[in-house]
Amino acid sequence: MAELEGPEFGKADFVLLDEVTMEQFLENLRLRFSQGRIYTYIGEVVVAVNPYRALELYGPTAVERYRGRELYERPPHLFALADAAYKAMKRRAKDTCIVISGESGAGKTEASKYIMQYIAAITNPTQRAEVERVKNVLLKSNCVLEAFGNAKTNRNDNSSRFGKYMDINFDFKGDPTGGHIHNYLLEKLLLGAPAALLASLHLCRDPCAYRYTQEGAQGSACGDDAAGYQAVEEAMAVIGFSPEEMGSVRRILAAILLLGNVTFVAEDETAAVEDAAQLSALAELTATAPGSLRQALLTRTVAAGGGELIEKGHSPKEAAYARDACAKAIYERLFCWIVGRINAGIAARGYDARLHGKSTVIGVLDIYGFEIFDTNSFEQFCINYCNEKLQQLFIELILRQEQAEYQREGIAWQSIEYFSNEPIVELVEQPHRGILALLDEACLAVGTVTDPLFLASMDTRLGRHPHYTSRKLCPTDKTMEFNRDFRIKHYAGDVTYSVEGFLDKNKDTLFQDFKRLFYNSADPVLQAMWPDGEQSITEVTKRPLTTGTLFKNSIVALVENLASKEPYYVRCIKPNDQKSPTLFDEERCRHQVSYLGLLENVRVRRAGFAYRQPYDRFLLRYKMTCEYTWPNHLMATDREATQALLEQHGFQEDVAYGHTKVFIRTPRTLFCLEQERAQL
Ligand code: ADP
Ligand code: MG
Repeated sequence: MAELEGPEFGKADFVLLDEVTMEQFLENLRLRFSQGRIYTYIGEVVVAVNPYRALELYGPTAVERYRGRELYERPPHLFALADAAYKAMKRRAKDTCIVISGESGAGKTEASKYIMQYIAAITNPTQRAEVERVKNVLLKSNCVLEAFGNAKTNRNDNSSRFGKYMDINFDFKGDPTGGHIHNYLLEKLLLGAPAALLASLHLCRDPCAYRYTQEGAQGSACGDDAAGYQAVEEAMAVIGFSPEEMGSVRRILAAILLLGNVTFVAEDETAAVEDAAQLSALAELTATAPGSLRQALLTRTVAAGGGELIEKGHSPKEAAYARDACAKAIYERLFCWIVGRINAGIAARGYDARLHGKSTVIGVLDIYGFEIFDTNSFEQFCINYCNEKLQQLFIELILRQEQAEYQREGIAWQSIEYFSNEPIVELVEQPHRGILALLDEACLAVGTVTDPLFLASMDTRLGRHPHYTSRKLCPTDKTMEFNRDFRIKHYAGDVTYSVEGFLDKNKDTLFQDFKRLFYNSADPVLQAMWPDGEQSITEVTKRPLTTGTLFKNSIVALVENLASKEPYYVRCIKPNDQKSPTLFDEERCRHQVSYLGLLENVRVRRAGFAYRQPYDRFLLRYKMTCEYTWPNHLMATDREATQALLEQHGFQEDVAYGHTKVFIRTPRTLFCLEQERAQL
């Protein structure tokens, strides 16, 4: 509870609302946003509204204001949260994590950067060189990942199309000694994405000249690209990319662009490359043999009966499809290679627990929030499933944390009813029966299975699930298409998904011929990206895991990892779609507050004790309201003095006394105390 803000700034903690209603919540949020108070607590959760303007909140003076302070001693801020996570890690040797969620453009990536910046600022007072190096690489890694992983979308000029989890390792002194980044599902379909990067690497002065960058280029000003280029190159050098590696990266990006422009014509029923010059340029960029490259583009090897291999020519349409799949795969693998390379640069080196004590970790998760577009596809399905899992964890952990605190303090705990989204998670991930399992089944089926057939199988087998609806079962619903759409009732609301492309995206077919081609490249970077290219075609009949299953596995592992740490949460809200610093779009905000489950969060917090504080701090604030405690109490303990104070005001029914803290159940009691204080 931030005590340094007056009532004119609204409530610094939503638990202090008179009533927990959406209207009061939004009004408080709006009031604070209009005054540049973009941070508000719900207990220990930070709710942040994107200000869409530069605020003077993050400089060295701000760092000093928050360093080592308790959450409620200063106005709500990310720095306070970062400090709390850091203190828990350092004092109690706890692994902690900071989970940042919110929709695209809500300010997650910025928040994660401020948190890192704060941690960098408060650590390594003795300026040890190795620690400085690690900090530098950690900070620079953002710039590189964003350059490669972001896209300009209509929602966000710089939208991260990947989820990122970064662990920072600390030694016993509390200084960073290393880190590790894990990336989740880079959206490969947005090849328009790196237009700015490509332009900045001088590969593509005119993004419109390349099919893959035309879309991203629209309306994007490439004016400050030169500066962007410098920053990316510098950051890559700091991280430790060698000049040779940077050269490879540039050639690979150029190859992706060029690949997009390759066109095919029909020659005797099969495809041929229209422009042979493109082919030789591509072979040069990828350091592959022109003959093998041509073959990979135009044919695929299939295993016939008896282990025999035959070459099957593509039709021009098939060739175009394979080409795009190939370009996307190269881009994805390049991104993963870059992440791996950064990880090598920040791996905790020479850390010996016997010498240096236990190493602890702070994890920072910046991951795409719930997405509801006009047309929702496989990507939104995956993203929303992920959010469903994280929301489940959020509610469980908040409850668990409360429970743990009450136990520590020796206070009786009453259980709280809350919405469980377990059935929705099950609908998606249950083995053999869930949507992902049915999707895999459809992908494995022999013969031609189409998206509509997959939809039909879901309708048959999930039709009665309370969170699943299909048009077939609900023929009056004109908002859905009969052969295309299905709907999931998410905790955040109903989302209609178009089944189109689900099979393809899940299978994510890339012909083995391409993998082998690049595995045999003379470019060491390109080769390192394709370790699976070594397999022979007969070995490959073992099917690789599907995109959906891989994603599910990585999210399950993520949730397990987070659950083992002490969590801190930042919930980001986007105030409007116009990037306006003044507009508070009530409808948009209402929607986000509801699907972030914030009201529920406030209720959970209030169902127990809304407010808690160590006795000495409580007295410091309120001792002037009671004759027994002012100016100083004469009792044996602060606890007894607190008790005397609260009894004099008649609040004994509303409080509980823990070992070190006083707990106050309803915010009203606190208002009264505040009022008493103000009247003096
Ligand atoms: P997300 O990662 O949630 O998609 P970003 O963090 O990229 O969103 O934020 C989108 C844009 O909003 C940023 O590029 C920046 O212009 C603005 N923004 C976000 N947070 C802040 C902040 N705390 N102060 C100023 N501008 C911000
Ligand atoms: Mg982002």
